[in-house]
Amino acid sequence: MSLVVQKFGGTSVANLECMRQVLAKVKRPLSQGDKVVVVLSAMSGETNRLLALAKEWASNPDPAEMDSLVSTGEQVSVALFSILLKSQGIRARSVLGFQVPIRTNCAFGKARIVDIDGDKLHEMLEDLDVLVVAGFQGCDEQNRITTLGRGGSDTSAVALAAALKADVCEIYTDVPGVFTTDPNICSTARKIDRVAYDEMLEMASMGAKVLQIRSVEFAKKYNVVVHVRSTFCDEPGTIVCQEDQMEAVLVSGIAYDKDQARITLVHVEDRPGVSAEVFSAIAEKKILVDMIVQNPSKDGKTDLTFTVPRADLDQTLRVLEGLKYEVGFKELRYDKHAAKVSAIGVGMRNHSGVASKAFRALAEEGINILMISTSEIKVTCLIEEKYTELAVRTMHKAFGLDSETNAQSCKSA
Ligand code: ADP
Ligand code: ASP
Ligand code: MG
Repeated sequence: MSLVVQKFGGTSVANLECMRQVLAKVKRPLSQGDKVVVVLSAMSGETNRLLALAKEWASNPDPAEMDSLVSTGEQVSVALFSILLKSQGIRARSVLGFQVPIRTNCAFGKARIVDIDGDKLHEMLEDLDVLVVAGFQGCDEQNRITTLGRGGSDTSAVALAAALKADVCEIYTDVPGVFTTDPNICSTARKIDRVAYDEMLEMASMGAKVLQIRSVEFAKKYNVVVHVRSTFCDEPGTIVCQEDQMEAVLVSGIAYDKDQARITLVHVEDRPGVSAEVFSAIAEKKILVDMIVQNPSKDGKTDLTFTVPRADLDQTLRVLEGLKYEVGFKELRYDKHAAKVSAIGVGMRNHSGVASKAFRALAEEGINILMISTSEIKVTCLIEEKYTELAVRTMHKAFGLDSETNAQSCKSA
């Protein structure tokens, strides 16, 4: 007997018809005598609806109460699905994060899992066929409900698979696997059969929302092999695994993130400690700075340019205004509509010329590069947001990733 963890995202549990497809997926391992832990997201649109509702009540709602509110989406899904399972004579029950418990820190809205009581879950499963666990949620030391950040049900599933030492961890979604880029914006995207943890980490952190980045960090840390596949067809999806279990290609995928803003501090004092002051003040507000470029000029001044998520722009500007006299800059410039486009591949480690190929491809389409950053396995260009789709398709083609057939052939199956 095996233990299988299956996670289903929002579009997979959107209504009764979709939940019947989920039921079919769950019945397969059951028919082989296996036990199943099902992790569910809220029905699609529900988390956004709840977030918007809270904003009607208060412009800056209390973070702990926000987590109590948004976690209810997953409660509805697990209860409804358990009702469906039980109506079929399947021994099942729903469990919320605090009932497991899935222990997290108290960073409301972006909590991190610190512990899961695997033994208790195994005990619960003794008398059951299926345990239906609410994704996205946990509880802190004070037993307050926490949530794990957008897309957090992926992390719940992988963390549960690790804690339970499950034999299989399947992430079911609305596309047939991880593609060379988002198949919803590039019809020539190809499904990838196997992707290394490090590549998937870069893809997720550069915007490919098919897996939440923390779920990949968990998978890598605990060596959980993750199978990303579609709820709506039967074909095998993508295996996310160790690098040595796959053939290295130069570039495996193109990721994008449209929600970026660029800030420049013009004519900052060029002296030790300035960057430390600027970025410590921003970090104190838990704002993530990504790309950073500094260009010293001859007059003892420097321009300091960096990116932050667009949602954090206003708060970052307020922090910087407060530093004006300490840091001594002349002007604060910002640009709200920037996007990152990245080429990612473990094969880059041993090859040169990848960056120049990306720059050439963008240049041929007349797309200006605003900033560049690279790592061992990634080249990222910041561009104007309005060129995102064009840039993704252009780089996808330039790195030979285009396929002949339509990316989403199995979606309507
Ligand atoms: P779920 O609700 O099942 O968690 P998400 O919407 O979070 O699903 O993630 C699936 C979506 O991720 C796809 O519909 C697709 O638009 C997007 N996506 C972005 N990049 C990729 C990629 N490289 N491969 C597959 N899907 C991607
Ligand atoms: N419902 C949450 C969200 O929309 C978590 C998830 O779907 O993974 O972000
Ligand atoms: Mg998701």
